[in-house]
Amino acid sequence: MSSKTPNPFSLIPGVDKVLHAISQREDVAPLPLALTTALVRQAVESLREDVKNGCTEIPKFDAFVESSVASITSLFRSRIHPVINGTGVCIHTNLGRSPLSSDAVESIAGVGQYYNNLELDLVSGERGTRGGFLEKCLATLIGAESATVTNNCAAALILMLKHLANGERNEAIISRGELVEIGGGFRIPEIMEASNTRLIEVGATNKTSLEDYEKAITPRTGMLLKVHRSNFWMGGFTHEPTTEELVELGKAHGIPVVEDLGSGAIVMTESLAPIPHEPTAGEVLNRGVDLICISGDKLLGGPQAGIIAGRADLIAGIKKEPFFRALRCDKLILTAMQATILEYLSAGDGRQPDLPLLRMLSASVDDELRPRADAIVAALKGVEGLEVGTVQSIARCGGGTMPKAEIESLALDLYPTTMSLPKLAQRMREQALPVMGYIAGDRFRIDLRTVFPEQDGKVVENLLAIFRKV
Ligand SMILES: *Cc1c(COP(=O)(O)O)cnc(C)c1O
Repeated sequence: MSSKTPNPFSLIPGVDKVLHAISQREDVAPLPLALTTALVRQAVESLREDVKNGCTEIPKFDAFVESSVASITSLFRSRIHPVINGTGVCIHTNLGRSPLSSDAVESIAGVGQYYNNLELDLVSGERGTRGGFLEKCLATLIGAESATVTNNCAAALILMLKHLANGERNEAIISRGELVEIGGGFRIPEIMEASNTRLIEVGATNKTSLEDYEKAITPRTGMLLKVHRSNFWMGGFTHEPTTEELVELGKAHGIPVVEDLGSGAIVMTESLAPIPHEPTAGEVLNRGVDLICISGDKLLGGPQAGIIAGRADLIAGIKKEPFFRALRCDKLILTAMQATILEYLSAGDGRQPDLPLLRMLSASVDDELRPRADAIVAALKGVEGLEVGTVQSIARCGGGTMPKAEIESLALDLYPTTMSLPKLAQRMREQALPVMGYIAGDRFRIDLRTVFPEQDGKVVENLLAIFRKV
């Protein structure tokens, strides 16, 4: 090697030197040193690999520091932290589904910070039942004989399958029209497989008759399963038996009928907004179904959980399954769910439960959203490089619930004159309290239905940080 071409390995920056340069800067995201060190070490290692593989383009030291700072920033932004939801999608799975009520959040703080009576009976001083009070509240609210709570609705379904479609009777009959993917790797056939249940598909995608179910019943049948089509709809040449017909068939053969309702409406959805009626848990149990399961963080508006409700003997059996222990909720979720269900019970039929999700769904465009929009537009008057207006928009329930429901809403209509729309969207995501909006045509929109009123000021502040006021 000639003296004029230095050994490329000698040009690879040292980890300590890079870390020192980073520590001298004031614009670096506050990550713990252990994470920063790991990131820099990884970048140095990967550069060494590149050189080994023949790469001769070694970045200058300053450029290497700069790119390390960028990786630190992007790792820092990936931590879970609050985001303003301007998408108009009320139950946004990427944004954590339902926001919790302040009662639920306060109960988490209280129970999490101190010891609590999670499994202690304060009357006898002996060991008590975990979640016993919540189970009573749930059964009362739903109008069920019994109820229990698991990690999520997928877990609830697995537990019901494990308990009812097992051993000699390991077959579950389901219509081909209900072999759905709920989202993110949750497909009904896969869930059934994971539960060791033999899936017996009947009917066709668009048409399944009661006879299809009846013909499939054998001594090995453990349950008749109905899955609510929560995230899509079918129209045209379709038929399926009613829940009542399935219940009658199940009763005649001594086979339990189970319905996975998913979205989990508790109140009448049509009373919240001009949207269709979503079957409630109580309503479906009243049709004679043996068990239902619903999600806790969809239309119910609580924390992530799955609720099973229905026959007391079946639920007692499910709670004895070894798997139940693996899928149970922790104390923080139980207390947040308890606060949420208590709010439903306190509201009764007299008023709308005071839960963020229900408030958002029912907010009035003229009385609530428009005055807020006008105030934001006024606050942004005279900003350079941004045209600001308001526009009628469509908000949605989201979370794979009620796909047909369109809720009239109001959005900020932003037109940047000095940057592209994707750039504006990116800048809004880069703020300390990021704002997720959406691009529609040649506008960037922020739907105010899903923005909490107390966040309006922050939306303005973020826009002022990006555009200069003149
Ligand atoms: C959303 C949904 C599920 C899954 O619920 P998670 O609580 O997310 O596990 C199951 N079934 C139906 C019908 C759903 O809509």
